[in-house]
Amino acid sequence: MIEKRIKEIRDSINKNVELVAVSKTKSNKEILEAYNAGQKVFGENKIQEMTEKHEELPKDIQWHMVGHVQSNKIKYMAPYVDLVHGIDSLKSVKILNKEAKKNNRIIKCLLQLKISEEFTKFGLSEKEIESILNSINILGLKNISVVGIMTIGSFTNNMSIVVKEFDKTKKIFDNLKSTFPSLKILSMGMSNDYKIAIKHGSNMIRVGSLIFGKRI
Ligand SMILES: *Cc1c(COP(=O)(O)O)cnc(C)c1O
Repeated sequence: MIEKRIKEIRDSINKNVELVAVSKTKSNKEILEAYNAGQKVFGENKIQEMTEKHEELPKDIQWHMVGHVQSNKIKYMAPYVDLVHGIDSLKSVKILNKEAKKNNRIIKCLLQLKISEEFTKFGLSEKEIESILNSINILGLKNISVVGIMTIGSFTNNMSIVVKEFDKTKKIFDNLKSTFPSLKILSMGMSNDYKIAIKHGSNMIRVGSLIFGKRI
């Protein structure tokens, strides 16, 4: 079932769109089923859970932290995390840089844009994203590499709201890219809205329940 769903999603999306299989709350057995179907990129939303899975599962899995990042837990994922999606403060940026340095790594991350007013607590405005990117340059933080932005659309059945949000996100992304050309990734779209997201320029989708089934 998992294998079939992964293949269906992959076949329906363009090759330049990266599929992150969001495996939070799912067992190692379920993750291995996806892995054996060729899926190598997995997303988790809790650092501790991700770290346990990283220790137990094949080492060529790329782990993405897609949830809100608690700065006091960054140290646990710094040795291995491949991409951190949900960075939304200069404080977290600095800690991520410090922990990356300790591990002799450059850690890739995305800054989280707050596009939905009602449905998400976390995230930054376009101005705040610009300001953090400028601070990184001024402070000369060398062990962190901001490679794009991520956003979460509104949890609503009214898809016209989501369309507007994703359209606006794409404009903001393009605008930021013209000043900061190192921004390449737009992480946008989940099980319910990834098709809309791709239409609006997403090149990284985070899909959980559509692959693994509902979470309890
Ligand atoms: C859980 C989660 C997903 C996956 O959600 P589904 O609706 O199950 O596809 C994607 N992104 C983030 C940030 C998440 O927390």
